[in-house]
Amino acid sequence: MIVALKPNVSPEKQERLVEWFKEMGLGVHVSTGTYQTVLGLIGDTTKVDMDLVGSLDIVEKVSRVTETFKCCNRKFHPDDTVIDVNGVKIGGGNFCIIAGPCSVESEEQIVGIAKAVKEAGAGMLRGGAFKPRTSPYDFQGLRAVGLELLKTARRETGLPIVTEIMSATDLPLFEDVDVLQVGARNMQNFDLLRELGRTDKPILLKRGLANTLKELLMSAEYIMASGNEKVILCERGIRTFSDYLRNTLDLSAVPMLHELSHLPVVVDPSHATGIAKLVPPMALAGTACGCDGLLIEVHNDPVHALSDGAQSIKPDEFAVLAKKIKAVREASL
Ligand code: PEP
Ligand code: MN
Repeated sequence: MIVALKPNVSPEKQERLVEWFKEMGLGVHVSTGTYQTVLGLIGDTTKVDMDLVGSLDIVEKVSRVTETFKCCNRKFHPDDTVIDVNGVKIGGGNFCIIAGPCSVESEEQIVGIAKAVKEAGAGMLRGGAFKPRTSPYDFQGLRAVGLELLKTARRETGLPIVTEIMSATDLPLFEDVDVLQVGARNMQNFDLLRELGRTDKPILLKRGLANTLKELLMSAEYIMASGNEKVILCERGIRTFSDYLRNTLDLSAVPMLHELSHLPVVVDPSHATGIAKLVPPMALAGTACGCDGLLIEVHNDPVHALSDGAQSIKPDEFAVLAKKIKAVREASL
């Protein structure tokens, strides 16, 4: 249930109302917006008398939420969430490009790419250290060593680092990572989501290969209901019957997720298409439909990349793309 308060309600009156709901055994999520404060009631609200609550002089409107996702629901939290990663913001009008290789391969590789993408305008550096590969015989990532190399690249460039975590047991290794990525294959690893909800790190949550938007939001809900509200959603393409592409980029997910949720939405054109030359047009399309950021795979030597070389663009192509992204953003504002 959502209780929207009238403007300028005194803190004492608001607190009295919150306490009253808590006495009924309900959880109360308070969202203080620029113009309005909204209380989200969590729990069994069937016994709450909506008419009585609606008649209180400090209450503007009461409505029931039919959706099962609450914490990430825009009705609970009308203002966009802005996530601040060491001063780099994403959401609520703040746009950020996260760029870097699929996998961290060596110090020279990750530091070189980090410098190049920073120079071109990226706000964060990505790079996989723990890699979820379809085949157990493929490169699995440099693991703990990869995380150390990412930190070296951060020291050299100042870019916050984004990297995938596959298991909650690895969490101690990720203590000094800025953004934890949950990959498509782990979107419904509920134990992992719950554990990440107990951390205070921003989580980049990728949509599963065959998951609906509601399932994506329910996964965000797992993290948020465990106490961590810093979730960034990522549309990275879904499996369809499109035969020439790795996946199908569901761009309509961007405005739909923005309508349903207050969380930032990032588009990943690299995993969505699997083809380097399709990355720029789809990155621009994602930008045009209002995403809050992009996740782009960049490699200095894609032909010899240890993973996802076919979809990786080169640093000079990234620099050209970053300029076009800026132009599209300016044109669509
Ligand atoms: C990745 O970002 O490198 C990755 C493995 O992505 P996804 O989980 O979307 O396949
Ligand atoms: Mn990849």
